[in-house]
Amino acid sequence: MQLIYAIDIDPEKYVAESFHKRMLPPAECPHCYRVKTLWGLGYYSRNLSRMVRGALLILVRRFRCRCCRKTVSVLPGFAQPYRFVQNRTIEKYVRGNPFSDEVVRHLDLLSQYWRRFRIWLPELERTLGHILKRAPPNDPFTAWRFLLAVHGNLALTTQKLVAGFQITPFGRYRCHRPNGPEEKKAGER
Ligand SMILES: [Zn+2]
Repeated sequence: MQLIYAIDIDPEKYVAESFHKRMLPPAECPHCYRVKTLWGLGYYSRNLSRMVRGALLILVRRFRCRCCRKTVSVLPGFAQPYRFVQNRTIEKYVRGNPFSDEVVRHLDLLSQYWRRFRIWLPELERTLGHILKRAPPNDPFTAWRFLLAVHGNLALTTQKLVAGFQITPFGRYRCHRPNGPEEKKAGER
């Protein structure tokens, strides 16, 4: 399982300051709901788009519950689960023209994300009827604006969706592999 941790730093700073080492475990295990049972397991790595050309390799902290033995990873809020392009760029894309360079560089992926959001919207409306009830049905731009206005931004919207419903704005949440080959042992980096 993955949780989103809203942090107020950009991805470059997260990497430069090795912020992954400072990610604390959630107080409560999201599987068995016991408190103070999560301990550092290591990291997994993933790529994330940058403002400039190229990609950043970020390390995501993982924890294991000593009671139920299940794992949880804590993704920094600037990234979207399973999506390469960072949240800030996705928000800029949906706001529309004029597109900045970072948006233009990832237009193909961003249009795929938007298509997923549009397809996924009926499920979001079913799940979040209390939030979206004043938005006209099947109106993706208005629904998007409502979601971000209620929660604050895309990071906080995703945080709420993942924690509360195991979904993201773009689809159903999928657990990442518990012991992928990319895993790094705690303290290795
Ligand atoms: Zn547990």
